[in-house]
Amino acid sequence: MRESGALANGGMPKATIDTSRPHPARMYNYWLGGKDNFAADRESADLIAKAFPQIRTAVQENRRFLRRAVAFMAAEVGLKQFLDIGTGFPASPNVHEVAQKIIPASRVVYVDNDPMVVSHARGLMTSSPQGTTTCIQADLRAPDTILAAPAVRAAIDLTKPVGLLLIAVLHFLDDNESPYDLVARLGNALPSGSYIALSHATLDPLPEDVIEQLTALAGTGGDQGTFRPRTRVDVARFVDGLDLIDPGVVPIVRWRPDRSPQAAASVADAAMYGSMARII
Ligand code: SAH
Repeated sequence: MRESGALANGGMPKATIDTSRPHPARMYNYWLGGKDNFAADRESADLIAKAFPQIRTAVQENRRFLRRAVAFMAAEVGLKQFLDIGTGFPASPNVHEVAQKIIPASRVVYVDNDPMVVSHARGLMTSSPQGTTTCIQADLRAPDTILAAPAVRAAIDLTKPVGLLLIAVLHFLDDNESPYDLVARLGNALPSGSYIALSHATLDPLPEDVIEQLTALAGTGGDQGTFRPRTRVDVARFVDGLDLIDPGVVPIVRWRPDRSPQAAASVADAAMYGSMARII
């Protein structure tokens, strides 16, 4: 986290699976209580959990936010097609399960740059008979590649509204990777009436000593990649110029907390902002 708050990890999807170094998707899976992780992931994840034990609550709370956001998009907006970038390992209920429970014909494309995530997702993200699920390996830093991918074009009609999900993934983009421009390029490719839901790690509500410990740890990681928590103002820039849905850019536990599944943690324990915006 230092000055730029980041560790560089290069640009493109990793072609091979290296289990000797910690990976964000596997650390996240470990905090969630999953089995898709290795010793290096657990070691690194435990160091962070020592400094910030609430991380396990935070990731659970982030999954709740994800499910509330998808349920909103399906039930209240009527969206039937979803592009989920930075999918993570399957953790039921996943996006297609939430969406297809509301609209069985929903079509979901999962995108992740981690090959292990993609292979697990291909095995486990089984669609309803009426809908479709597709998983591709691609990188958020190459939005045009994602939008042009034949699998995306086959599943998603880009002339009809899309639900774009950027959940707990934008904090893996450093400022020098043009994160705002990348999100704008994705948003510009989607028609009016599409929605963007995002969640993003922040240090805003954390005590100074926790911030110091997490900052020190960010400098020691191996292949963990960039980690760039942002302030509320900087998170809000991702949805600048869009039609912000009530209640705006807020801690995830304050985003429609009474919808199912209800928020269950404090602002400081979740330490993430969430937002939903409509493309005009
Ligand atoms: N969205 C899920 C998973 C979050 S973990 C959830 O909120 O529960 C973040 C995921 O983003 C990991 O699976 C990681 O592999 C993926 N990721 C990180 N940087 C990425 C990038 N540049 N492009 C695509 N996926 C990325």
